[in-house]
Amino acid sequence: MDLHDRIAHLDPKHGILVGGRPLGAERTFAVHDPATLATIAEVADAGPEHATAAVDAAAGALAAWAAETPRARAEVLRRAFDALVAETDLLADLIVAENGKARADARAEVAYAAEFFRWFSEEAVRSEGDYAVAPASGTRTIVTHRPVGVAALVTPWNFPAAMATRKIAPALAAGCTVVLKPASETPLTAIAIVRILREAGVPDGVVNLVPTTDPRAVVTTWLEDSRVRKVSFTGSTGVGRTLLHQAADRVLNASMELGGNAAFVVTADADVDAAVAGAMIAKFRGGGQACTAANRFYVHADVAEAFIARFGAAVEALRVGPGADEESEIGPLISARAVEGVQALVDEAVAAGARVSHRGARPEHGWFFPPTVLTDVAPDSPILGQEIFGPVAPVVTWTDEEEMLAQVNGTEFGLASYVYAGRLQDALKIAERIEAGMVGINRGIVSDPAAPFGGFKQSGLGREGAREGLREFQETQYFSVDWS
Ligand code: NAD
Repeated sequence: MDLHDRIAHLDPKHGILVGGRPLGAERTFAVHDPATLATIAEVADAGPEHATAAVDAAAGALAAWAAETPRARAEVLRRAFDALVAETDLLADLIVAENGKARADARAEVAYAAEFFRWFSEEAVRSEGDYAVAPASGTRTIVTHRPVGVAALVTPWNFPAAMATRKIAPALAAGCTVVLKPASETPLTAIAIVRILREAGVPDGVVNLVPTTDPRAVVTTWLEDSRVRKVSFTGSTGVGRTLLHQAADRVLNASMELGGNAAFVVTADADVDAAVAGAMIAKFRGGGQACTAANRFYVHADVAEAFIARFGAAVEALRVGPGADEESEIGPLISARAVEGVQALVDEAVAAGARVSHRGARPEHGWFFPPTVLTDVAPDSPILGQEIFGPVAPVVTWTDEEEMLAQVNGTEFGLASYVYAGRLQDALKIAERIEAGMVGINRGIVSDPAAPFGGFKQSGLGREGAREGLREFQETQYFSVDWS
């Protein structure tokens, strides 16, 4: 089957999934391939009534799912892992088609996405509690964890598979049921994932899907529904802030994975070739459209010339093209607006004195942006203060470590950062002073299902992955036992 047939087989016009039933809607919306600008599918456009029906289904399925033994839930999750891995080709093709990323990046995302099911199938059976003796009275305290309840999940377009599974897997492991709203740019991957989960044995109503072009209406319906006990959001800090305001009305349990502004620090004694290799991954994975993407490079003056020359050469050699083309290393940006936004940031930086030292080639047609290195970037340049979300690498040189760290920490974001140094202890001494939830040390990637992903400051609240990821979907309860 070619991709067109495989998309038709998913039946996206009935892409709403409620209680195991695929549903259509009065309207549909178009999904575009950002490399060709072609419409690749029409998807059911859900409204508030579907949002409520999804909560009905999730609330109805909750008691039975929560009452399953941890082992039974673990086995469903393990089958889900196997099923997702078996469908790697389909999922990678869908990610390439609707998100645009290069095929190798898409396949890596599917592996990462599936791994959350394996990790949380193993974690589902390890929900330990506690048993304590109260110091003064001698009464006994038994501490346990129970599922928080119906969880509303909202995900972005930049990792259409992994951002969904990073939430669904721990929610299901904890015994929660979920309603999921994918980004309207990338609903096909989500439709495929929920279909695969169903086939793997996830009971009807446990995972419900509501694609829409009206996220505000759908998510507000959920946040106002007293049966929804949790919101888990990944996306921009601006939207996260709005949802937190809304969640405050019901004191709703909220996890937020928000924007980043990662610094990439290179010290005087770092291995420059290794730093360049790490920089290429940290900056250009997904075309720079990752929350963990290196956004600002702080390179020690002693190695700056060598770093910029080698990094620039690697950037100019990058093959930019449609993700579907096996040759392509980076694909297009997600939209025309994204291209304009990244161009505006570059123009502003250049107007303020930055220099385009290296620039790669890109296809004329499609939402492509040429990979770019900027040097002579002023430390207070606006491009260093916000998420670029594109393949542009501003480089700042430094000599004074205190000043460099003040610049690195001079942002409201605190998601990821990277440090390249010759000695581990020197890298750690810098890393321990960086205000970020994750620091890559001599490596350009930090994500791992077994590690607690998340940010400081306005990059978010809570963690995903690891044991912490399960806790986000649990309430702690204790029993205080009379001991007379
Ligand atoms: P976005 O905030 O525009 O959208 C994210 C999701 O929120 C989408 O599903 C969107 O439809 C929905 N949404 C938009 N407006 C809404 C509203 N008013 N009410 C309810 N829902 C609404 O973000 P994006 O452009 O899709 O994704 C890029 C952003 O996500 C970047 O800032 C990136 O750093 C961040 N991100 C963070 C992480 C992380 O783990 N910290 C991971 C990936 C992406």
